[in-house]
Formats: sequence, structure tokens, C-alpha cells
Amino acid sequence: MATNITYHAAAVTRSERCALRKQRGLTIWLTGLSASGKSTIAVELEHQLLQRGVGAYRLDGDNIRFGLNKDLGFSEKDRNENIRRIAEVAKLFADSATVAITSFISPYRADRDTARQLHEVATPGEDSGLPFVEVYVDVPVEVAEKRDPKGLYKKAREGIIKEFTGISAPYEAPLKPEVHVVNNDIPVQDAVKQIITYLEEKEYLPKQQ
Ligand code: ADP
Repeated sequence: MATNITYHAAAVTRSERCALRKQRGLTIWLTGLSASGKSTIAVELEHQLLQRGVGAYRLDGDNIRFGLNKDLGFSEKDRNENIRRIAEVAKLFADSATVAITSFISPYRADRDTARQLHEVATPGEDSGLPFVEVYVDVPVEVAEKRDPKGLYKKAREGIIKEFTGISAPYEAPLKPEVHVVNNDIPVQDAVKQIITYLEEKEYLPKQQ
């Protein structure tokens, strides 16, 4: 681990960056079982935010597992490291005054709490942390298993995939998520509306013209 590194004072502070970009940075952390609907919600949420002029960017399996984290597997250690790196990257986007949207199962409470702490603790030179909005995309495992668009639950039942969340590995549901979406056959727009309403109530989004 590097020890002889120090923070370089930023020329532009976070609040100046937010003022210049006319928006706040934050992370929306979607968590839930495989096939609960995280990616579907993330895509629509990103789309709606961009349409109203808010810079947003999705981090998901496709752009993380095939790039930054392609050296990681699915052991507990690698899963922890996967989430830690995602949280650090999301935080960088949030710090740049972008809305970062992550969609990963992130089954362990401790990992999600680590991601939250990373955001909420102020970095040197800043007087506050960054908002972390945990969104629990909640469906019963039976519903997720019935959807199973990638056939993963089937493979898990057959023992082809070991330690599959919800079947042979635990999913630790959030205890106090900022938003709890019961995503059992509601239109995706309704799920996204629930998240946007929360962001508006907290005044995290710029007022619409
Ligand atoms: P995840 O990212 O959590 O693995 P996806 O977003 O890929 O889940 O969704 C899994 C499947 O469930 C997809 O086929 C998607 O169309 C469907 N789905 C998502 N949201 C809903 C919903 N509210 N009601 C019914 N089906 C849904």
C-alpha cells in the first residue's frame, strides 16, 4: 500500500463545481436479487435524468465486470473488492457533480454500508460528504426466479452456478433504504417516479424549468 501520498488541494472546490454545472453529485445505489429489475430501472432513471438536463451515468455489470474489475471472480473476497471499487468509482462520479447510478446485486449489508461510509465521510478539503441513496429493488425470490431472463436461477438450481444469491447464497435485505421499490409487476416508470420523487423531496435535483 502506498504511504507517501498526500491529497493535492483542488483548484475548484466541489461546491464551485456543482454551481458551475448547476447540479449536485450523488450516488443512487440499487440493490436487489438477480432479475429483480435493477438494470431496467437504472436505464430508465438515467434516461429520465438526462432528458431533464441532469448529467447521470450508469455503472453496471457490463462496464465494470468487463473492464475495471475483469480480474475479479465471485469468491467472497473478490465480491467485496468488486463492490469496494464500484463504490470508489461511483464516488468519483458523484464528486464530479454527476448522478452515479449503480446496479449490482450487492447482497451483503456490510459491503453496502462500506459504500455508504465512503460517500458520507468528507474528503480532506471538503466540509461534507456526498449523498448516498440506497434503493432496495424488492421482489420475492420466486418472482425473480420465474423471470430468470438469463437462465441463471435454473443453472443455480442445477448446481451449475455455485453460491447464487437467493438460492445458495444469502441476500441481506436493506434495513433502512432511502427508497424501497416493491418491483412486482409495476410499470418501470412507477419505480423510477418513486426514486425521482425522493430526490426532489431532498432537493438533490435542480428545479425543472
Ligand atoms: P436485474 O438487473 O435486477 O438483474 P433486470 O432489470 O435485468 O434485473 O430485469 C430482469 C427481468 O425482469 C427483465 O426481463 C425485465 O424485463 C423484467 N422486469 C423488470 N422490472 C419488472 C417489473 N416491474 N415487472 C415485471 N417484470 C420486470
